[in-house]
Amino acid sequence: MFVHAHPDDETIATGATMAHYAAAGALVTLVTCTAGEEGEIHVPSLAGLAAAEADQLGGYRVSELHAACAALGVTDHRFLGGAGRYRDSGMMGLDTNKHPRAFWGADLEAAAGQLLEIIREVRPQVVVTYDDNGFYGHPDHIQAHRVTMRAAELAADEGIAPAKIYWSTIPRSVMEAGMAHFAGSSDNPFAEIEHVDDLPFGTPDDEIAAEIDGTDHADAKLAAVRAHATQIPPTSWLFSIAGNFGGEFVGMEHYTLAVGRKGPGSGKYGWETDLFAGLDLDGDAA
Ligand SMILES: [Zn+2]
Repeated sequence: MFVHAHPDDETIATGATMAHYAAAGALVTLVTCTAGEEGEIHVPSLAGLAAAEADQLGGYRVSELHAACAALGVTDHRFLGGAGRYRDSGMMGLDTNKHPRAFWGADLEAAAGQLLEIIREVRPQVVVTYDDNGFYGHPDHIQAHRVTMRAAELAADEGIAPAKIYWSTIPRSVMEAGMAHFAGSSDNPFAEIEHVDDLPFGTPDDEIAAEIDGTDHADAKLAAVRAHATQIPPTSWLFSIAGNFGGEFVGMEHYTLAVGRKGPGSGKYGWETDLFAGLDLDGDAA
């Protein structure tokens, strides 16, 4: 089960992993917490849908998310509390944080209870979300983290705790390789950044628990990226990185382990190559 803040986060952060496990026959459930109403719009003809104009972007992004899920092979997708329950809070400190339906202002117990209902139904062995900084500090990502961790506590009280909880991240070494590659290029996404430590994300390699090789599904991930056309323009660094590094960058996704016991792994740091590593897949998780 993957818990994400906005439509497109699932694809950018964990799309190859989702496609990998969907193709392997695992039940992959995606829970998206908001409809992404406050996003920028990169399709000029749709600019009038913006929050400050017709305020129709959220509904449009629901359809983009459906297309992305189809590309990833994910068939079980839900919105936390039902579509439209929680609104995109916008970036930290903006007035949109105070909207009555803003996810940032959601009652933690109520929202965790809604996620618990889904946990009761699908009984995930593995849950994936963000770290306590929401990967990069967006209020909805931080809230997704809080809601997920609280829901897991409530599930544990019922004896149905997920065996493992992972947080999506990027290894420091991958960030460094990306920065080195783009140094001096005109479309450098890191142009303002002098050192990798100045980035608000990136995890030391020895703290990474798992690396999922979804390179076989890099094309599916890129198709899902294209499905989020309002958010990710064709000039995005994502496509530029894909063009430069190919499937290896796009398809390799990394995680830290927040809850549960790390299974057997490989390589210098013993990274797991399977989020289910060490679990008894035939046994009853409870
Ligand atoms: Zn997001």
